[in-house]
Amino acid sequence: MNDAERQSLIDSGKMFKVLDDGFVRLVDTMGGDSSIVQAARVSYGAGTKKSSEDRDLIRYLLRHQHTTPFEMCEIKLHVRVPMDCWRQWIRHRTANVNEYSTRYSLAIDSTQRTKPNQWRIQASNNKQGSDGIVDAANGALLSEREARLHAACRAEYTDRIAMGIAREQARKDLPLSTYTEAYWKIDLNNLLHFLALRMEANAQYEIREYAKTIGEKIVSQWVPMAWEAFCEYRMNAVTFSKTEQQLLSLIYAGNNTAVLARLRAINWIKGEGSETKPILEAREFLNKLADLKIDLPLA
Ligand SMILES: Cc1cc2nc3c(=O)[nH]c(=O)nc-3n(C[C@H](O)[C@H](O)[C@H](O)COP(=O)(O)OP(=O)(O)OC[C@H]3O[C@@H](n4cnc5c(N)ncnc54)[C@H](O)[C@@H]3O)c2cc1C
Repeated sequence: MNDAERQSLIDSGKMFKVLDDGFVRLVDTMGGDSSIVQAARVSYGAGTKKSSEDRDLIRYLLRHQHTTPFEMCEIKLHVRVPMDCWRQWIRHRTANVNEYSTRYSLAIDSTQRTKPNQWRIQASNNKQGSDGIVDAANGALLSEREARLHAACRAEYTDRIAMGIAREQARKDLPLSTYTEAYWKIDLNNLLHFLALRMEANAQYEIREYAKTIGEKIVSQWVPMAWEAFCEYRMNAVTFSKTEQQLLSLIYAGNNTAVLARLRAINWIKGEGSETKPILEAREFLNKLADLKIDLPLA
């Protein structure tokens, strides 16, 4: 996005829709790819170079976690997010935030609703995750009950307000699915950190949708070189620990017996035959191998 396109997106007030009634809107930006390069060249004492060299420099900086040049760029977003999702979002302490006040104003009359085919089942192997979708009949029942619950909570809130109860207290039983709005300003280094954590498959679906929207719809246009380097070296990169590298060497040598012996020696797998159980770290290693199309039979 050049300066004119960026200004046009800001002026248009375009809202990128997220979930059923949430959004992300670009309010302002400061700097761009050229600011990262400019700041980095100050530290290296060199003048402005060609665009291809700018790209190489940004890729070098990101690859080597030379992060401060990325802090020269800032972005301000206006977001509308369900409160439970916002609770995860607000843990990112390096942003500046101004949130809609439900002490001062009436709570936003909108709650995030779940469609019958969106109720996720608790994952059995990840206490923080979900795995699969509930069957259609139960999904319909849950959505219907959700609608009734939201309506009852809102009716109680509205009644309390009508009876003169202070907004700061009347709000206390509103559901966590109630939407809130905020202005959120953050530098690019910390934004990329946020995106890396919240676009990742382990992050909860709802915040992942916001992170993907910010990354793919806004950051990719605002700082295309930094975004490209981020996708290459951070988002889609895989790291291997010292132990994993030793195991990879054994796998590469085709010595599966030695791999299994090593996995047992370090207690990454326990039991024998059909009882063989890999611990969490081993399962994570196997998942990385699977992504690389490397099959490692454990029995
Ligand atoms: C999948 C997932 C599951 C999570 N589960 C839980 C959970 O169960 N319970 C829970 O409480 N949280 C949970 N979190 C939140 C997590 O622990 C972090 O609080 C959150 O991701 C913010 O990360 P951060 O501190 O790196 O980011 P930011 O707050 O944005 O900080 C960015 C970086 O700045 C530096 N920094 C910022 N503030 C300080 C400081 N005061 N001191 C030192 N360095 C600082 C750190 O290097 C930090 O990485 C989860 C997060 C994810 C992504």
